[in-house]
Amino acid sequence: MSDSESKKRDEEERVETFDPKDQERYYMPREVRNILKPVYLSHKDEMQFRCYPGISCFNACCNNIEIILTPYDLIRLRRRLNKTVEEFLYEYANPGTLQKGQIPVAVMRMDEETGRCPFNTDEGCTVYEDRPVSCRYYPIGMAMMRKQDQGQEESFYFLIKEDFCKGHKESKRWRVEGWRDDQGAAAYDELNRGWMEMVLKRRSAGDMAKTSLQLTEMIYMASTNPDAFRRFVFESTFLQRYELDPKVEEALKHDDVALTRFAFEWLKAVIFGDRIDMKIRDGVLEESRGNLAKKAALLKKKEAARKRREQEEKEEF
Ligand code: SF4
Ligand code: SF4
Repeated sequence: MSDSESKKRDEEERVETFDPKDQERYYMPREVRNILKPVYLSHKDEMQFRCYPGISCFNACCNNIEIILTPYDLIRLRRRLNKTVEEFLYEYANPGTLQKGQIPVAVMRMDEETGRCPFNTDEGCTVYEDRPVSCRYYPIGMAMMRKQDQGQEESFYFLIKEDFCKGHKESKRWRVEGWRDDQGAAAYDELNRGWMEMVLKRRSAGDMAKTSLQLTEMIYMASTNPDAFRRFVFESTFLQRYELDPKVEEALKHDDVALTRFAFEWLKAVIFGDRIDMKIRDGVLEESRGNLAKKAALLKKKEAARKRREQEEKEEF
């Protein structure tokens, strides 16, 4: 068997196809279908694929899909459409969650009647240069995992081969890393790194890291709304509690990407105790210890009062 035949056979063995008759699985989001039985690819693995206007299946992949909007997707899309975050989310997104409701996310809203992506036209994608990262990756899916014996996250990829997509029959071959670069997906991953790490850590922590409603709202704010997170930093008591490097502080005022990165560094520090390059101002720790001591004393007092009441009730009987 020649090298190219053996590569082709290896690829076919790695590839998973979905039978449309398997209704339950066919209508699951792409990522979920693959997670059920992931077929791993590394940066160096190859796939055979080409997509171009005029291909018989043109636009078939832009219907009935679940597109999780990453923080950088939202920054790019709303800039492109010259909309505020609120306007964009209201017109084009629904709230959703990842990991059994633990991570709130924005999900692109497909047309209710046609199932079509709002940016899809017969001529193709109207936001192509700013399309979301999952559209860039397709037909590859990307996921991250943390190996138990290593502190670091590792990315892996899987090929999504759906019957309607004819691009797999084209002869052009790509390495995964070449496809990522060609589509601009690698640059998106870099800018979304903090968010991806937080999602992964939240999954690894399981029930050990229950987040409060307030923190869940913070995660959604950091993931979708840099303007609101900026107001939180500059208009709350945040800067009275934390001392930022003046250059960082200046960048946070104007730069949505810097602000989003900072937001996830801060959230990882608050939720998982990660290190963050930021100083807590003098007196803040003492003040919060004092507040904690006051709360503890109050709880003790309430508990003593409850026990006294119980005792009195027993004595009455
Ligand atoms: S954003 Fe563009 S590429 Fe992505 S699903 Fe919509 S139309 Fe297709
Ligand atoms: S080849 Fe695949 S990715 Fe390209 S338009 Fe057709 S279905 Fe979509």
